[in-house]
Order: sequence, then C-alpha cells, then structure tokens
Amino acid sequence: MQYNSTRNRKLTAAAAEAVLRGIAPDGGLYICDPAALPLEPGEMLKKDFTEMAEAVLERLLPDYSAELLRPMIRAAYGKFRTPEVTPLAAVGDYAVLELFHGPTCAFKDVALSLLPYLITGAKKLLGDKSRTVVLTATSGDTGKAALEGFRDVPETAIVVFYPEEGVSEIQRRQMVTQPGGNVWVAAVKGNFDDAQTGVKEIFAALPNTRKAALSSANSINIGRLAPQIIYYWHAWASLCRQGKILPQEPVNFVVPTGNFGDILAGYFAKCMGLPVGRLVCASNANDVLTDFLSTGRYDRRRPFYKTISPSMDILVSSNLERLLYLASGGDDAMVAQKMKELSQHGFYEIDPALLNTLQQTFLCGCCDDGKTAETIREVWEQEHYLLDPHTAVAWTVAEQHRSKLRGPTVVLSTASPYKFAPAVLAALGENVPENAFDAMEKLHELTETDIPAPLAELAGLPVRHRDCIAKEEMLTYVRSRMEG
Ligand SMILES: *Cc1c(COP(=O)(O)O)cnc(C)c1O
Repeated sequence: MQYNSTRNRKLTAAAAEAVLRGIAPDGGLYICDPAALPLEPGEMLKKDFTEMAEAVLERLLPDYSAELLRPMIRAAYGKFRTPEVTPLAAVGDYAVLELFHGPTCAFKDVALSLLPYLITGAKKLLGDKSRTVVLTATSGDTGKAALEGFRDVPETAIVVFYPEEGVSEIQRRQMVTQPGGNVWVAAVKGNFDDAQTGVKEIFAALPNTRKAALSSANSINIGRLAPQIIYYWHAWASLCRQGKILPQEPVNFVVPTGNFGDILAGYFAKCMGLPVGRLVCASNANDVLTDFLSTGRYDRRRPFYKTISPSMDILVSSNLERLLYLASGGDDAMVAQKMKELSQHGFYEIDPALLNTLQQTFLCGCCDDGKTAETIREVWEQEHYLLDPHTAVAWTVAEQHRSKLRGPTVVLSTASPYKFAPAVLAALGENVPENAFDAMEKLHELTETDIPAPLAELAGLPVRHRDCIAKEEMLTYVRSRMEG
C-alpha cells in the first residue's frame, strides 16, 4: 500500500514517509485509496475506542506494525478526560459527538495527541536521524494541540504561526503560555490563509538537510487525518450499542468545517465501509465551501470575515484537494490543474459530473454569527446543553437540512464552550466581563457546567511567547530555527 501525491500519481511514498514529510514534494497532498482498505462493521462493533484506533491505523499505516502502534495509541488516548475518549450525548433529536475531552479541549487533540508518536515512529522505521521541525499554521486549536503533543519530544522542534487577531483570547493564552524547550510560537500579521500559505511556501523554499527536515502538524499531514477516522466508527458503534440503529443503517454526520480535514475523515470512513448517509459540510459566514458544493465553483476572492467560530475562518480549504482526487477516481492531472488555477487566479470550477458525484454524499450550509448565537441560546434554553460556537454552526445547518436527513444524525462537537466563553455568554444574553477568565467563571456559575481543568489553570500561567512577525518574515523565522 502506497501513498501518492494528489497532483502526480507517480510521486509515491510509504505511509511512514508520508507522515514524516507532511506534504508531497510537488506541493500536492499524500493520498491513498481508502476504498481498498475496507473494515468489517460487524468486527468493528465489538471494539472499544483504542481497539478501533488500532484497526483503522493498521489499515492506513500498514508499515507501522501492530506492536509499534498499540503503545502509541494507549499513551495518546490515556491523556483524555473520559474513558470513552469521544462520548456521544443525546441532545434533542441529535446525537452530539463530543470531541473536546482531550488535553487542549478541542477535537484537534484526537489526532495531535497521536501525531508526535507517529512521527517519532516514522523516523525509527526510516532510520532518519535528522531533527524534525514541525511547521504549523493554526486557526486557533491546532496550535495548542500540536504544542502540547510535541513539547520536549526528542529530536523534534515545533513552530506555530497563528493569525495575530484571528483567535479567541483563551486560544491565544493557551499558546503563548506553552512551556517546553523545543517550542516556538509567533503571531503573524494576517489571517489564517496567510499563515497557511506561508507554511506551504516554506516547504517549497527550504530543502531538507541531513541535520533538519520539515514536517507538518496541519491536516495536510495524513497522520492528522487517519486518527480522525476513528471517531466516526466509534459514534456509529455507540448508536448501535444504544439500540438507536441497526448496524447496517446509515448515519448522517454534520461537521463544522474549516480546512475540510474533519469532514474528509468522515468520507474516508464511508469509503472504508462505515454505513454513512450524508456528510453535511457546515460553514460560518466564510461560506466558500457552501458555494462550492452548491455550484461547483470554488472562489476564494471574497471578503474574509472574523467570526465567533474563528477556527473555521478559512477561505482556502486544503483538504478539498484530496476529495477532488478521490471523487474523480484519482484524476491527478485535473487536481493539479485546478490547484494551479486557484493559486494563480483565485478560483476554479469543476466538471458538472464531478459536482453531481459530490452532491450525492455531501450536503452543505452556512450561518452567520447572529444565527450561531441564537442556536446557542435556544439549545441551552430547550435542552440545557451548552454548545460552543463551532458546534452551534453545525447544529444550525443540521436544522436547515432536517427534512432531507433520513435516519439518525450525529452533530460533531469540536470544542469546549469554555474556549469561547465571552462569545457564548453574549449568546446567552449576558453581560460579558472584560477579562476572558472572568467570562469563564461567569459561564460556569450561570450554567453550572464544569470548566475543563486545562482551561481553568491557564489564568495563572506566565506568558512565554511574544514574537509577532509579518507574513514575509515567516521563512527567516523558520530558517533560523532549523539551523538552531
Ligand atoms: C479546526 C476546527 C474546525 C474545523 O475543522 P477542519 O478539519 O479544519 O475542517 C472546527 N471547529 C473547531 C473548534 C476547530 O478547532
């Protein structure tokens, strides 16, 4: 089993190499054929989260032996605050898949608790003795989850770039207080797309040396995507065990989407045999994906909105490239052409037949901040369940499609509401204290829900990172860290 670049099938790599490199040498993303890696639903149903993780990862990363994977998986998911890792909550007509019980309180933990082990394992398998510099652009949550995962991991360093004004105050505090001898955090004067483009350019501009090589903790790395497939299976299995569905009955998933990584993992799960009905792509006011999935035209030339769901403030969704590849049956030349058009002209349009294929699986929708806030308030008042703003976007879009969704629907909940306490308080119609930690406390008193320990502790931690750079300075910033 080999991976290859989405832009050139001939550029192949074994799984370990794909994980270690992060991105293909031609700028494409590593991809395999998930339909060739089927899992047996009946077998999966017997497994708990870690056993499912083993099954999924053995399929996608076959050059890692089961003996190598097992301790990695146990160590990674042992850090979660619930034994189920990703529990399902029944809320109104939906099942809410809580993905935020990891060390940094967002769904990124499911993949980023494991990725450092996968990268270290890849180095062992490949006999790679160089230092790995992990580059990360973050819209808020990847940064902290990656910092926490890679801190003080031998022979690695991690560099995180976040948009100076594009993350929540709590998200920022999580990153700038990060301890560790191998971590760098810099604010970039620009938005997430600037940071992500900068990172991709650094990959192209900085050749790997014998001493140091680049990798990525973004969902362009297949090692990020693979672990996210696990919880789609786990959610389905939970519904079966609860007697809510029969094993062959399809389940719909509504996914708050930014870089298209999370929802693509759902598509992988479907290709690998999970009974999936529709995958619903939910966007905030940055509705580039809603337009694309409705019209077949991807156009990033539009206003960029800063919203209360900042981790979805993205106009260039990297992982869509992988979907185009898979849904077109591996048309690498087409993908290369579209990506070239996107970078040169800012837009592309796909063939109507391909759009039709996508629309058979994907539904889409979007909502603005006003509607997001309304949903947070309604769900709190009616169900006594507190949604974070990203999850509220997904809930709203699920409601938009209520009549089209047959069978049970799972809403993916991607972050703890406490990461966005001021926005959530405002949504509940409360006055918002100046200080984000006071807002957390007030939210706690109001709702009698618990503040997750890693967030409660933040207020007392010293600020360790103050770098703030222009986007043009990103390359120099990384180069000096590679030499250091
Ligand atoms: C990253 C993130 C998303 C978007 O996930 P993608 O994989 O980028 O589509 C949604 N919600 C939260 C809270 C996130 O951190």
